[in-house]
This record gives sequence, structure tokens and C-alpha cells, in this order.
Amino acid sequence: MANEIISYLEMCSREGVSLQRGMNFGLGGNHSVILMSLRPNAPYQDALQDRGTVLIYEGHDEPRSSAVPDPKSVDQPERISSGGLTQNGLFHQAAMGSKQGQRLPERVRAYEKLRQGIWSYNGMFHLVDSWRQQSNGRHVFKFKLVAVEAEEDFTVPVEVDAPRRRIIPTEIKLEVWKRDRAKCVICGASDELHFDHIVPYSKGGTSLVAENIQILCARHNIEKRDQIQ
Ligand SMILES: [Zn+2]
Repeated sequence: MANEIISYLEMCSREGVSLQRGMNFGLGGNHSVILMSLRPNAPYQDALQDRGTVLIYEGHDEPRSSAVPDPKSVDQPERISSGGLTQNGLFHQAAMGSKQGQRLPERVRAYEKLRQGIWSYNGMFHLVDSWRQQSNGRHVFKFKLVAVEAEEDFTVPVEVDAPRRRIIPTEIKLEVWKRDRAKCVICGASDELHFDHIVPYSKGGTSLVAENIQILCARHNIEKRDQIQ
């Protein structure tokens, strides 16, 4: 569920792999996973657009090696030396395919690093476009991902033009995390936590101010949702 607060180990156990890389195409054959960070010191320039409903995700660099001592000075690679596609290449191919109507958009789950050891599940996205652009004298890949409602059931086909969702900005999450002292505001539980919209987004509540976001445990999150519906 979007807006869960989880640890790195929980994330890996859910995805069934050790998430060493930031880009993981085609896990289990039905979705991909990206790790993102919007912190000022993040290694890549990820950004939110369209009032937080679109993520522009930057591709990844060559691994550092004796041949590539400074990965930030060379183009981000589409292929490895043997000719196969890199993660950039795999995501780019899928984005082009869906843009040209040859396939449905790839489903992508995004996890955001908030602080050391603390991650937030940013929910499901559709990969709809990608391109290369100049950045500090070299080419980088950019991927356009649209935040969509739910779509966690992989047996159901991708819904093209699914209702959009708005991502809670990082600084709001960090402010709420500190204000609520990393606990459910109702019972004080400190595990299975979520960022909850006090007035839901679907009822006009905003994601953009900390006053409308609080921390709830899984139980109180579900109880509240049942009351609203
Ligand atoms: Zn609770």
C-alpha cells in the first residue's frame, strides 16, 4: 500500500531480492522496482512534476572501475560491453514500447529513502516515456513515471490512463515523522506505520501540508479507511 514506512530488509523481503541496485527491471516478470531519493545530497536528480503526480527519474551511471574512474563524467550507458541492455536500456525499451502502443506501460514500484534505514513505499507508477538529455556535459537518461491508484494486483491487466495519485513530498514526510515521533498517533505503535491523509486526497485533502498528514499503524489505517467508505 502506498505511503507505508518500511525498513530496507522489509523492502527486500517483499520484493524477494536483495535490492542492491537502484533500478530493477522485470522482477517476477510482472513489475519493476526503482529506489529513489529526493534529498539534496542524492546521487541522481529525481524530480516530481504536475503537482506531485509525475516522477521524472534519472537513469544510472556506469559502475566505477579502472576504465571509468569518474562515472559522472561519462554518458549513462544503454548497453553493456557485450551488447546486452543495461537497466537504463531495459527501462528505455519498455518506455518506448508503451509510448508507441506496442505494449502496456510497465508497472513500477518506487521506494523512497527518507533517512538511513527508513524508506517509504511511494506506490505504483506507470512507465510512459523516456529520453536522453544533456546534463553537465554528458548524456543522462530520464524516465517519466505516472503515479496511479492501487494496481497492486498483477493478475489484473494494466489500466491505461488509470486515476492518478499524488505523492507526498519528502520534506512533508520528514516533518510529520519528526512531529509524530515515528509512532502511530492513536496507539503509539512503532511498527507497520503509514503516512495517512487526515482528509483523504479523494475527498479534496491536500498532500502538500504537514497538517493534513499523520502517522498511523496498519490497524488504525485500515479502521479509518473502513469508516470513510
Ligand atoms: Zn495505531
